[in-house]
Amino acid sequence: MTQDTAFSGYADPALHARGLFIGGNWAPGAGAIPVHDPSTGNRIADVADAGVDHALRAVDAAEAAAEGWRKMSSRQRSEILRRWFELMRAHAEELALLISLENGKALPDARGEVAYAAEFFRWYAEEATRVGGEFRHTPSGAHNILVDHEPIGIAVLITPWNFPAAMATRKIGPALAAGCTVILKPASETPLTAYAMARLGEEAGVPPGVVNVLTTSKPGPVTAAMLADKRVRKLSFTGSTGVGRTLLAEAAKSVVSCSMELGGNAPFLVFDDADIDAALDGAMVAKMRNGGEACTAANRFYVQSGIHDAFVEGLTRRMAALKLGRGYDPDVQCGPMITTKAVEKIDRLVSEAKARGARATTGGEPAGESGYYYPPTVLVDVPTDAALAHEEIFGPVAAVYRFETEEEAVRLANDTEYGLAAYVYSGDVMRAMRVGRGIDTGMVGINRGLMSDPAAPFGGTKQSGLGREGGVTGILEFMEPKYFAVEF
Ligand code: NAP
Repeated sequence: MTQDTAFSGYADPALHARGLFIGGNWAPGAGAIPVHDPSTGNRIADVADAGVDHALRAVDAAEAAAEGWRKMSSRQRSEILRRWFELMRAHAEELALLISLENGKALPDARGEVAYAAEFFRWYAEEATRVGGEFRHTPSGAHNILVDHEPIGIAVLITPWNFPAAMATRKIGPALAAGCTVILKPASETPLTAYAMARLGEEAGVPPGVVNVLTTSKPGPVTAAMLADKRVRKLSFTGSTGVGRTLLAEAAKSVVSCSMELGGNAPFLVFDDADIDAALDGAMVAKMRNGGEACTAANRFYVQSGIHDAFVEGLTRRMAALKLGRGYDPDVQCGPMITTKAVEKIDRLVSEAKARGARATTGGEPAGESGYYYPPTVLVDVPTDAALAHEEIFGPVAAVYRFETEEEAVRLANDTEYGLAAYVYSGDVMRAMRVGRGIDTGMVGINRGLMSDPAAPFGGTKQSGLGREGGVTGILEFMEPKYFAVEF
């Protein structure tokens, strides 16, 4: 499949450029936002541009639907989510093509994303019926404590471009399971997948107004207006730490509950006693899933001296063998970056490291093709205070650093304001667990390069966020505990 071939069904960009999705209707916006194919730079669609008035209409629609949705039995809500899951699976190939088209990621990654994204609907279809409460006696014996969980209310969901389907379902799934109605604002670069999923939601039987989707070129004022509206009780945001900080300050004005999934700077530690082939397999997944455009992407490879050179040699061979090209072309393993700006940032980080003594064993210069390409790159002899050790690279660049002792590895791993994910490879599981405990992150992969799973609590410490998505606790982010003091 190439972009020269007409896309059809859900993979057709034109199908999803019908307007803002408010209250179950497709409404015109106040202008248009162009959507580009990063593989070619071509404009593929225009989506509607929402202003503050549209956003407040979406809040009206979410409010109108709230009572009916909240009062619906959890079994009924569960079955709607389950149908949405089935529909995503039935349309998986078209959704994967659409994701590849607007995001650029290679088709195998896009297929993986659709499968992962759909699983959040299945998981929360199951969790919807399992929300429990609590009963206790007070120690004084004065009364009893009954704790119920209630839906928190209308939720604003803001998602990034790097996983256009999964970041949306990871929020919509638990919110709907909890009994909340939502307004989703997807990233301007990748809005088509969100609209495609809204159409599938309609087909699954999601009532009008329960899920509203709007795109805007003015995310600041539009979000501020929704957060200032007292009917909005929740903000769930996934994106950069910088925007997360701004939104936390905005939400503070109305004391809106916030869940924040922010940036990462994952260390990947390889000890001398690691199985080197397993470590290389894991490194390729941790670095190259999504072309390196993942918050969990390994940003810093710390490799113990005894295994360092063999690891670099193996990593260089594997990275150099990857096929770079248009995401939706056959056999492509690494697609373009999202924008030229993203390529410029990677180039800046790599150039700065090289100027300070780093050496590229493969790649190391932007690829001179149309579209937004940067080749798979391995850098060695990188100073530990280079900018790319502290900023998210968000691209296919593996920077390798050498270490001698366990203490040094843990210290280097923790030398960052981020705390999302870390990876540890060692043949000694006791050591791997000890090191994992010493690293200040929300998630640690032990001899694994992939940790994301709908059944696991995903999230970070430090400046990587607040709260967790997925797992058993993910639904509680969209609920408020209510305590009844009762004597009987
Ligand atoms: P971003 O620039 O922070 O944008 C994320 C979303 O926020 C987009 O929908 C964006 O809209 C919107 N936005 C931007 N400015 C806003 C404002 N002032 N008010 C309200 N909304 C605003 O991040 P990105 O570049 O799309 O995504 C990459 C980042 O996301 C990386 O840092 C990555 O680590 C992080 N991420 C974290 C996780 C996690 O689970 N922890 C997962 C994936 C990605 P526009 O598109 O219209 O600007």
